[in-house]
Amino acid sequence: LNIEEPSSEFKRKPVIIIVVGMAGSGKTTLMHRLVSHTQASNLRGYVMNLDPAVMTLPFGANIDIRDTVRYKEVMKQFNLGPNGGILTSLNLFATKFDEVISVIEKRADQLDYVLVDTPGQIEIFTWSASGAIITEAFASTFPTVIAYVVDTPRSESPNTFMSNMLYACSILYKTRLPLVVAFNKTDVAQHQFALEWMEDFEIFNAALDSDQSYPSTLTRSLSLALEEFYKNLRAVGVSAVSGAGMDAFFKAVEASAEEYMETY
Ligand code: GDP
Ligand code: MG
Repeated sequence: LNIEEPSSEFKRKPVIIIVVGMAGSGKTTLMHRLVSHTQASNLRGYVMNLDPAVMTLPFGANIDIRDTVRYKEVMKQFNLGPNGGILTSLNLFATKFDEVISVIEKRADQLDYVLVDTPGQIEIFTWSASGAIITEAFASTFPTVIAYVVDTPRSESPNTFMSNMLYACSILYKTRLPLVVAFNKTDVAQHQFALEWMEDFEIFNAALDSDQSYPSTLTRSLSLALEEFYKNLRAVGVSAVSGAGMDAFFKAVEASAEEYMETY
């Protein structure tokens, strides 16, 4: 009998980076930055767009959902609104995802990273069957990492910060994949406060005390519950616009890929 260890089936490369985050957090802009960074660093990247509704992409995609599914046609044909149209397009694409995986497998030797952009509205990817199917298809074949993009200037209020982190937390536990939190837009607001809030409950508590905008009791108890979650992620500050933080980001991705290889 020749029983192989399951982990030996996984290839070391490429590392899949699935970029998720709230609408407007800067996923597409960050994708563009990641693509330029990999090209400038002689890293071999493959780029995938899973947003069927995007009008123009600032980067060239090797695999684009829009080549396979016509979002506007899907809306008409199934009599759907914009979100239903995106979701149904993603469902249609997910049924053919084994072909996408084969394409990447064939090129695996020549690739370091596969960068994946997801639809603007986060829940369409993170809370749909097709999002789960696509994530699972990646993760059962290659080391896969979730990059959760946060709009840092819009998370400066402790309550907003908390809801954003809860969302990230739910993604970590749903996908069970290593998570890198990318605090984006550091050209507008530095992410230092966020790191401090995650490291020290007392500092977060003090910030809550001075925020009268919202009842804070729930946030306070939630933040205690999140301490364990914070220990399980890597957080970096980036700016998709200025390009700051790219080395730190890829370092965190590499460490996450290592974690993946050890865990799965
Ligand atoms: P998506 O919906 O998550 O894909 O977000 P987009 O990439 O479309 O970006 C939303 C808005 O945020 C756009 O106006 C971007 O120009 C802006 N943006 C994205 N990243 C940054 C950044 O690092 N710094 C600043 N100042 N603006 C950014
Ligand atoms: Mg986008």
